[in-house]
Amino acid sequence: MNQNGKTENSAAWQAELAELKQERNAVILAHNYQYAEIQDIADFVGDSLGLAQAAARTTADVILFCGVHFMAETAAILCPNKTVLIPDLEAGCSLADSINVTQLREWKAQHPQAVVVSYINTTAEIKAESDYCCTSGNAVKVIEAIPTDREILFLPDFFLGHYLLKTTKRPMHIWVGECHVHAAVKPEKVAAMRAAYPQAEFLIHPECGCVTSCMEALASGDIDAQGTYILSTEGMLRHTQQSQAQEFVVATETGVLHRMNKASPKKKFYPIDETMTCRYMKMITPEKVVHSLREMVYPVTVSEPLASQGRKAIERMLAIG
Ligand code: SF4
Repeated sequence: MNQNGKTENSAAWQAELAELKQERNAVILAHNYQYAEIQDIADFVGDSLGLAQAAARTTADVILFCGVHFMAETAAILCPNKTVLIPDLEAGCSLADSINVTQLREWKAQHPQAVVVSYINTTAEIKAESDYCCTSGNAVKVIEAIPTDREILFLPDFFLGHYLLKTTKRPMHIWVGECHVHAAVKPEKVAAMRAAYPQAEFLIHPECGCVTSCMEALASGDIDAQGTYILSTEGMLRHTQQSQAQEFVVATETGVLHRMNKASPKKKFYPIDETMTCRYMKMITPEKVVHSLREMVYPVTVSEPLASQGRKAIERMLAIG
């Protein structure tokens, strides 16, 4: 496989995969940050929220999850009677690793009355200790659904937490975790790309390291609010389809540009940084996807009572939207 995830013989592995899918009654779910070739064979491509919703409604017996481990765990929590597979068990997440259950229990003990809101990029153990889950696509709605007199603990993404604090004006305690891919986007990079592509609209993911300063710059008028949008990956995709603009600079993992190019082939999309790729997402290759379904590896399971405790937090989120 080359660096773009392209295999030498696409037709052969795609044919084998199609046969295995039918044999196993499997559905393939792929995250927006997967290699283009994997997105193209998936039954559903989306962000964490869309993938959780797709897992919850599938009638397939097997869910082959092309994403990272916490996402497969979320599917396993939502679908206890299905087989959930991930093609590489090493596909983790630096953000999910930024808090463990001991740390969360200690934090909760310091704020015993607080409502715990966990970004979906967390382990099953963390979800089981949480009141709500959220994704970047519905985090504002989740925070707004919590009664205003309740104290909030938000974890684990520091930048998303600050974005929520400023957007909803709800005071909250925020865990200092970050994603190594998004935290690397600094305001200087935004300034350089704005100068290079003055006609382009700017799409920024709320996990990015530049988001707090960009919000301040937007509020003070230092950044043109007209052309700058802070959006989840699905929000970005929708925006590129609806906007009159023809060029976009995209500040999130570069995998999402494949869907944007497919949906709007006449528009131009520039990654804010070509190297903005998630090494965990890119561990999933076409060869591993075929191997996974052929050998039925690697099953992801979440034992009880962890699963039912985590399910409550996820279902509260799904009920909000
Ligand atoms: S891009 Fe960041 S948050 Fe997403 S899976 Fe990779 S490490 Fe985790």
